[in-house]
Amino acid sequence: MKTRRELLQYAGAAFATLPFAKAFAQAKSSSLTLPGPIVVSTWNFGMQANEAAWKILGNGGHALDAVISGVAVPEADPKNTSVGYGGLPDRDGHVTLDACVMDENGNAGSVACVENIVHVAALARKVMEKTPHVMLVGEGAQQFGLANGFPKTNLLTPSSEKLWREWLKTAQYKPIANIENHDTIGMLALDSAGNLSGTCTTSGMAYKMHGRVGDSPLIGAGLYVDNEVGAATSTGVGEEVIKICGSHLVIEQMRAGRSPEEACRIAVERIVKKNPVKRDDLQVGFLALNKHGEHGAYCILKGFQYAVRSNSQNTLIDGKSHFA
Ligand code: ASP
Repeated sequence: MKTRRELLQYAGAAFATLPFAKAFAQAKSSSLTLPGPIVVSTWNFGMQANEAAWKILGNGGHALDAVISGVAVPEADPKNTSVGYGGLPDRDGHVTLDACVMDENGNAGSVACVENIVHVAALARKVMEKTPHVMLVGEGAQQFGLANGFPKTNLLTPSSEKLWREWLKTAQYKPIANIENHDTIGMLALDSAGNLSGTCTTSGMAYKMHGRVGDSPLIGAGLYVDNEVGAATSTGVGEEVIKICGSHLVIEQMRAGRSPEEACRIAVERIVKKNPVKRDDLQVGFLALNKHGEHGAYCILKGFQYAVRSNSQNTLIDGKSHFA
């Protein structure tokens, strides 16, 4: 029979092995506030998306529910030409969407090159929860969505169609990476139970080749979540992010003890090393949130911003850049 003192020691030791308890102890020792709830997301349209996520997160809700609900805002916004409904089409006039999700248990779901469905982050969640697979693409992803009650919607708005037709006149059908024509929303959240989830959703690079898939739906490239360490997401020229497994690299740098900003800087510098000359068409930004609720970002070219919402912050932050 254990004494009361031994039982207390045992319970204390068990508590100390819980990740949240560790985060709590570190937060206390470094006089930080308690980690979570907090949500971060890419670009200025992240502010509005964070607000929707905060309705769930600020009320003690689950990080996964919060991020799916947050990114549904830009996905449904016809004025946002780089995510969801109203996204700019590929060079053949098809709007094709990419998205993925990860939860605190390391579960993952993804869809790529999907047409006619607005809320592809929610669809990626369905793939994660309802199928034995991680990723569905194209026609199969669309069929799965329609069978699961996602409405069929023409994603090409009249104004996006007009922009595409203008592009066709001068572009000679060449897909061009350009910092004005692509912006993804990646959203990462830490909930009040100390759990992390993330999602990434986009219409990808405007006027891309039909069938092109970027980094955003690829687990480890556009998004990675490890509940012991943190979460990371990316935006920008997806091809460069894929080649370095960008978001996974950021997570591994945080695991090795680096801050979110340092981890993002290392990923950016891997890309810059292969592309050392500054180019206006080569932007990549990484955003990371660690288990302690600390966040940071880094990008190649100036101009990448991210939005933060917590009990003490509701703001847009300029990510530091490699080139001034
Ligand atoms: N990363 C996305 C892609 O390459 C686009 C973006 O974030 O701007 O599809």
